[in-house]
Amino acid sequence: MFGASEYGVEVSVDEADVERLLAVRPRDVESAPALSYARNVFVPLTTACRYTCTYCTYYDPPGEAELLAPEAVREICERGADAGCTEALFTFGDDPDDRYDRIHSQLEAWGHDSIHSYLRAACEIALDCGLLPHSNPGDQTREQMALVADVNASMGVMLETTADVRAHSGTRRKEPGQRLRTIATAGELAVPFTTGILVGVGEDWRDRAESLLAIRDLHDRYGHVQEVIVQPVVENDRWQRGSPDVETLRQVTAMASAALPDDVSVQSPPNLAPVRELLDCGVDDLGGVSPVTDDHINPGYAWPELRELEEIAAVGDVPLDERLPVHERYLAEGWLSPRIEEAIDGDDDAGRRYRALLAAP
Ligand code: SF4
Repeated sequence: MFGASEYGVEVSVDEADVERLLAVRPRDVESAPALSYARNVFVPLTTACRYTCTYCTYYDPPGEAELLAPEAVREICERGADAGCTEALFTFGDDPDDRYDRIHSQLEAWGHDSIHSYLRAACEIALDCGLLPHSNPGDQTREQMALVADVNASMGVMLETTADVRAHSGTRRKEPGQRLRTIATAGELAVPFTTGILVGVGEDWRDRAESLLAIRDLHDRYGHVQEVIVQPVVENDRWQRGSPDVETLRQVTAMASAALPDDVSVQSPPNLAPVRELLDCGVDDLGGVSPVTDDHINPGYAWPELRELEEIAAVGDVPLDERLPVHERYLAEGWLSPRIEEAIDGDDDAGRRYRALLAAP
């Protein structure tokens, strides 16, 4: 049992399961019968973040951080809808702290007392434009998540690792217990959820196994985890400590496939990982790919063209299926809010596009 009682979450990880997972090799898992992906637009709502993870180039310090205006949110979403996207991916730093006075003043000027209040308005804009919101606002309290849950088709936060690594340290230390708490809160609020592990930030093999088993434990409890991303850290202006090699990624991807039940996708991001060399390790999802915006989290690593995804699927000799940002079972089982169901049932182009994907084989 571990976790953090100060965050009100405890997670069971059985030592025998850790040992079993550590023994998993790529030959022990099967290739997926198909690959899926979603078409999204990145909407970088703010680049302010209370943390300073040493591998991250997304956040800007106070004075430099941006807050996207409602008009810009609408313009990005309209371009995405016109390009056939189904998902508005709202990216953030983590809840901006008091140092970001310019961001807070701007929010106030727009009539919002918090970034979550503004996120709710931004999600409404995305829905108006014919996109389903998927928000990643970092760690969230129950109150924060409850404020936006009904205007999101799904949400997410990377667990990254259950280990306390130096890459998360500093005066504002990012705690694994908080992220586990956020994933548990999503389960309690019945929010379909995407999470993942970040490989190569100072964690060891046991930490990787424990992180995957912690996600499984929370999914066993709530059934809400739809995808687990296995993401390598990559070199950039703030991180020059290398990336995990292919053999490491093959093994950890196979571990994810072995650890997680069949209803949880194992996602490999094609702009960051050598996906072709991971296909026999259980990858079944390529995440969101954007035909119209950059990957703002990793701007140096351009999204491949959709054609490249087809080439990846051809290497694996499997079909490539477009999906919605929320997995179909959550729709069938009545997890979604009336607002999201209404969008999917809508008698407009967006509704027809969503339902065409649901009806596809
Ligand atoms: S990884 Fe996320 S939490 Fe860490 S500094 Fe970057 S935006 Fe903030």
